[in-house]
Formats: sequence, structure tokens, C-alpha cells
Amino acid sequence: MSLIVQKYGGSSVADAESIKRVAKRIVQTRKAGNEVVVVVSAMGDTTDELMDLAHEVVPLPSGRELDMLLTAGERIAMALLAMSIKSLGVDARSYTGSQAGMITDAQHGSARIVDVTPGRVREALDEGAVAIVAGFQGFNRVTGDITTLGRGGSDTTAVALAAALKADVCEIYTDVDGIFTSDPRQVPSARKIDRITSEEMLELAAAGAKVLYIRAVEYARRHGVTLHVRSSFNNNEGTLVVNPVDGENSVEEPLIAGVAADLSQAKITVAGVPDIPGKAAQIFTIVASSNANIDMIVQNVSAAATGRTDISFTLPKTEGSATIAALEAQRESVGFEMLQYDDQIGKLSLVGAGMRTNAGVSAKLFTALFESGINIEMISTSEIRISVVTRADTINDAVRVVHSAFDLDGDTPAVVHGGTGR
Ligand code: ADP
Ligand code: ASP
Ligand code: MG
Repeated sequence: MSLIVQKYGGSSVADAESIKRVAKRIVQTRKAGNEVVVVVSAMGDTTDELMDLAHEVVPLPSGRELDMLLTAGERIAMALLAMSIKSLGVDARSYTGSQAGMITDAQHGSARIVDVTPGRVREALDEGAVAIVAGFQGFNRVTGDITTLGRGGSDTTAVALAAALKADVCEIYTDVDGIFTSDPRQVPSARKIDRITSEEMLELAAAGAKVLYIRAVEYARRHGVTLHVRSSFNNNEGTLVVNPVDGENSVEEPLIAGVAADLSQAKITVAGVPDIPGKAAQIFTIVASSNANIDMIVQNVSAAATGRTDISFTLPKTEGSATIAALEAQRESVGFEMLQYDDQIGKLSLVGAGMRTNAGVSAKLFTALFESGINIEMISTSEIRISVVTRADTINDAVRVVHSAFDLDGDTPAVVHGGTGR
């Protein structure tokens, strides 16, 4: 008997019909003789709608109350799913995150899992029932409050339960057939990948591919959980996220795994910074104190006449205004001339483990963008990723052009089965 954790995303349980469809699939898995734990997200765009509602009531909702509100979404889905499964003659019990033992720190909106104590889930399985767990939520023992794990966090719930219960596999069911070489919603010629390394998936997730949540990929890698991303709309094989042992299978690795786009970032330029030791340290200490997660950093050569330079960096748009305010407050002590804020940027990232051993990838990327008249504003690289910043309105073209230049296009158009892409 295998223990299977199945996670169903919001688009897979968007309405009553979808819930019944998913219930049938779960019942089939159970009847095939497996123990089944299901993690479910809120129906459709419920989380976004609840978030909008909160902001209609107050501009800055309290973190505690926002978490209380958002976790209601998963609670609705889990109860409906359990009812539907029971109606098909299989016992099922739903559990909130705290009932399922998802213990987190106290950080509302982006809590981290610190312990998983799924005693009640284990009991339900032992009694032959399917356990349904609300994704994306946890409980802090010190404050006694309900927390959420960050947007997309149901993936993490599934992986954490799979690790704690020593599941054989963690299946992530979504509205596309697996992980593609690019987002099938943006790039219809994207090709489904059969196997991807967790290292590549981490880079893609960090670069904006929301098919898997980055923390879930990290958690799975650390705990040796096998992830299988598939569609809940058909029985196609999907994509396996694997953790290759060092040196194993590196010969057959494709050069490029995929291309991702990220439109959630903004660029701040600190202009006219005195080019003397300590200024970068000062600026980024201020940025860190506003808790901003910065990504790319570029420093210009200083102008000989003035001895001043410009320093630019990217950060999530959501952290823009707090960071600008923090820097503005220290203008005199840093001695810079002015700040520029630009939220019309897009970031394209090309990811592939084969980059380590192949020269010429950057040259090919830059050439493809040049030939399409797309200007590059910033560049950063890691061992297996190259990212460039362009204007936001050129990002879709940029992704398609780069996707083709690296021969990633498939023969048939990719199918998106559901979801609104929100
Ligand atoms: P769920 O509701 O199931 O959690 P998400 O919307 O979080 O689904 O993630 C699935 C979506 O991720 C797809 O519909 C697709 O638009 C997007 N996506 C982005 N990049 C990729 C990629 N490389 N491969 C597959 N899907 C991707
Ligand atoms: N419902 C939550 C969200 O929309 C969690 C998830 O779907 O993973 O972010
Ligand atoms: Mg998701």
C-alpha cells in the first residue's frame, strides 16, 4: 500500500462540478488500495476576492485578521470536498491546518513551518478514511493564532505533510499538464518537461514561474520528497521534480530547462552617490531595515567630473514605497542626489543546469533580444540562470523570442484546462 499526498489547486476546485470531479479521482486512488491525504486550496480566485474585500474595508488590514479571513477560503473547499467524497461511499474527514498539526512561526502572511504533528491525519488514515487538509494555513503555539504561509502556500502544506507522513509521492494537481518550458498562458508553443531537477525548478520558481511555490520546492529538496506535477483535468503523465545525486545523469541534461517572466518587480535608482567606500553598505543597510527582498544590483562607473555614481536595484513592487521612504529619510547622511522609482520593468530569466558546462548562452540570449529590438537594462547571473530586465511592455515578446532562439518550442500548442491566470 502506498501513501499518496495529492494537492489540488484553486482552479481544480473552482465550482461544485469541479469538486465532484476531483472527489471521483480521489476515490479512485483510495479504491486502488492507497492511503490518501488531500491538501486543497480555496475555490477558484476566492483568496484574491477575500483580499480585495479586506482592502475595500480598510487600506491596511491587520495581519492577524487578514489571515483569519483568508484561511476561510480553504475551509470552504475542504468541507465541500469531504462531503463529496463521502457521498461516493468512501469515508473522508476534513481538517484545518491547526488540526492537522501545521505549526508555524508567528509571521502573519508569510509564516514558516516549524513543526508538523499530523496525529489526527494519521489516525484518520489508520481508520481507512481519506484525510482532507486545508492548504496554506498553520497555527502558532506562542500567540495561539492562525497564520498563512504566503500566496501559493498550499504547495508547501502538501510537501510538509508528505515529508512528515513519509509519503511515497506528493502529487500537485493543477490546470496545466505539468511544468512547461515557459508559462503556457503566455507562450502557447511551450513544451511539457518530463523531468526537471529541483535546482532548476527552484530557479524557475524564484524567477516568477508560479506553477510551484518556491518554498515548497525548497522543502521537498531538503526532505527528499518526490514532487509530481500533473493536471487534474486528464490522466497525462505530468512532470517529475527530481533530486539527482551528485554527478548522476548529468550527461543527458538539456542545456535549457525553461524561460520565466516576472512583472512583479520595480527598480529603484539612487542617483549621484559619492563614489567612496562604505556608501553601498550604507544604502543596502537602509534597504534591509525596511525588510525589502532585493534582487539585481547594478552600480555605474562614476563620472570623473563629479566623483559620483548611480546604484540601481530591483525589489518587489509591494516593497517599493516603504523602501523609497526609508532611503529618502537618510538622503543627507548618504549624500545622494535623487531617487528614481520605475515600476514598468519586466524580468526575463533563462534557466538550465547545462549552462554550467556550455559557453555562449549569454551571447545567444543577448543576440536574440537585440534582433527583436528589445533593450536590456540590467543583467544578473547565477551558475544556472541568466536574468535581464527590460521594459514591462516588451516582456511577452522577449520571452517568446528567447524561447524560440533556444529551440524550446513544441510541435503542438500547450493546453490550459482552467483557471483565470489571476
Ligand atoms: P493552482 O491553482 O493549481 O495552484 P497556479 O495558478 O498557482 O495553480 O499555477 C499554475 C499556473 O502556473 C498555470 O496555469 C500557468 O499559467 C502558470 N505557470 C507559470 N510558469 C509555468 C511553467 N513553466 N509551467 C507550467 N505552468 C506555469
Ligand atoms: N489559496 C491560497 C492562494 O491563492 C493558497 C494556494 O492556493 O496555494 O494563494
Ligand atoms: Mg499555486
